[in-house]
Amino acid sequence: MNLKLVDSVVKEVEASKSEVVNLCSKLVQFPTVNPPGITTDCVKYIKAYFDKLGIKSTIYQRNEGKANICATLDGKKTGKIMYLMHLDVVPEGDRNLWSYDPFGGIVTEGKVYGRGACDMKGSGAAAMVAARILSNVDPKERCTIDFWFTCDEEIGATDGAKWLAESGMFKADICLEGDCFMYPEDPSIDIGCSGSMRTIIKTSGKAAHGSQPHLGDNAVDKLIEVLKHTKNLEKFPLKVFDEMKPVYKSAVKYYKRQKSLTDEQKAGFVKCFKHPTVSLNLIRGGIKSNVIPDTAQAYLDIRIRSGCNMSPIKQRMLELIKESGVKDTTAEISGPSSGYYEKPTSQPVKQLIKAVELATGKKPALKILMGGNDCTRIKEAHLPIACVGFGAGDEGIAHLTNEYVSIANLMTTAKTYAIFPII
Ligand SMILES: [Zn+2]
Repeated sequence: MNLKLVDSVVKEVEASKSEVVNLCSKLVQFPTVNPPGITTDCVKYIKAYFDKLGIKSTIYQRNEGKANICATLDGKKTGKIMYLMHLDVVPEGDRNLWSYDPFGGIVTEGKVYGRGACDMKGSGAAAMVAARILSNVDPKERCTIDFWFTCDEEIGATDGAKWLAESGMFKADICLEGDCFMYPEDPSIDIGCSGSMRTIIKTSGKAAHGSQPHLGDNAVDKLIEVLKHTKNLEKFPLKVFDEMKPVYKSAVKYYKRQKSLTDEQKAGFVKCFKHPTVSLNLIRGGIKSNVIPDTAQAYLDIRIRSGCNMSPIKQRMLELIKESGVKDTTAEISGPSSGYYEKPTSQPVKQLIKAVELATGKKPALKILMGGNDCTRIKEAHLPIACVGFGAGDEGIAHLTNEYVSIANLMTTAKTYAIFPII
């Protein structure tokens, strides 16, 4: 390892603080809210940044407004790394609840505020500056690097990472995903993300006048009964693979550190690494308050941490529905998708740990992302790319009102991104 080079790269990032902050603020000012998730202008801005530096970049788009961009630095070392950032953001919600304009990119109190600052334009800005610094590094000292900025992550990556992965556009040995979160004083890396099992339960009955329920067959009542049973999936004990036990332990410890958690919330983190989580997030049934409903549907968001045996989970769900004894019930279950994880002892994980140590002087905690990110698209397309995650987002801030990213996290991330390919 060329420690002198690492040292000079770190110094260059430190001297680029205002650039990282300004870029983050600028990216936030593009309202890439998804839906509709139009990234054209934001991508044009990124292209102009790379053009000015003489770094080649290409825009990939198959549907109007859904632009993705990849900037490439050719290197002479073996191997190839891709950085993966998404540009779309979730809606800002009620603007009156925001202390600052959600698309103002306001910089104050050591933070950049705005929708997408945390998830994940902060990481995007860090990657842009890392690319500029790495472009000045001797190509003999680094491998070829692609910097991807994609659309559509927040709605299933249809015209973004999913399309790019399936059409063979992603080519690399290692993907460094920036859609990850940490505490400024306490770095962490994601070696995987959670899996899911989306489930729709439907019940049917018979409509009748609301005044004579005995003549009808109430589908909502039936659905409520089934749901009492399916909630018991949260008691199902997950079998954790041995190599992942220490990672689970470190992840729980990390997540519990979140500020102002109640004891119950802390216990929730412990529980969700031992059992699936079952969240009833959408329910439909009935047409009017005086009509007995003849159909009802419930949408369950079931998440399972990767690194455990998934196969019996669907079976147990079907059993629970059966155990409810409710007639005229059907279930549509997609998955379980197992999420993914890289072995904690694998080379890409070790390389990322080293890069974070060099950037911060601290050993990062290993964890599994609670939700999913674009790496699942790479894994679903069966691409032979190891995926590890490190990003600027502050833990627990993504998708919230008054979303922000701390400048401390931006700097740690830019340093790590600049170091990762040269060690
Ligand atoms: Zn994200």
